[in-house]
Amino acid sequence: MAYFLPNHRNVLMKSSVLAEQIVSRETNWNACNIYDIKTHAEMSGHEKVEGVFAQLLRLEPEHSQLSHHYRVCLQDNEIFDFLCRNTDIDMFSFMTFIMTHELLHIQRFSTGKADFYRYDDDEEVYVDSLTRLFLAKNPVTGLKKVLTLLDKLEAAPLYNDKILVDHRRSINAYL
Ligand SMILES: [Zn+2]
Repeated sequence: MAYFLPNHRNVLMKSSVLAEQIVSRETNWNACNIYDIKTHAEMSGHEKVEGVFAQLLRLEPEHSQLSHHYRVCLQDNEIFDFLCRNTDIDMFSFMTFIMTHELLHIQRFSTGKADFYRYDDDEEVYVDSLTRLFLAKNPVTGLKKVLTLLDKLEAAPLYNDKILVDHRRSINAYL
């Protein structure tokens, strides 16, 4: 079991800044102050889940006229487990991939394009497609390896309990 440590902060910051720039540019949207990111070290019990790379929470505002706040809960163990099994994938590219996906969900929920409480597989498929498209238009170092690997998913990628086969090994991949 591995966890994000203080020396990983820089990679997390840089990847989320890049993901934010990409999503902002592609969707004409400003993510400013609408979300935060937690890793296991800062999380409370309900924010930790198994089987996904990240869990997205929506926090109710204190006043009804304020907008919702979103929280990306990165699941250290799943992310490090994946990176350990795929040593050719660098953390920066992989985190940029995860954050672009999560920010697209936030963009769609916060602008009414999707309903947070009707979170379903169609939304996952749509967000996954947009993530790949936007990242292809804005190449990230090492990203091609991430996409090549994720393309090997047998079923629609990145959802709970789907198995991907790589070099005849089974790898659980989630987002
Ligand atoms: Zn998702």
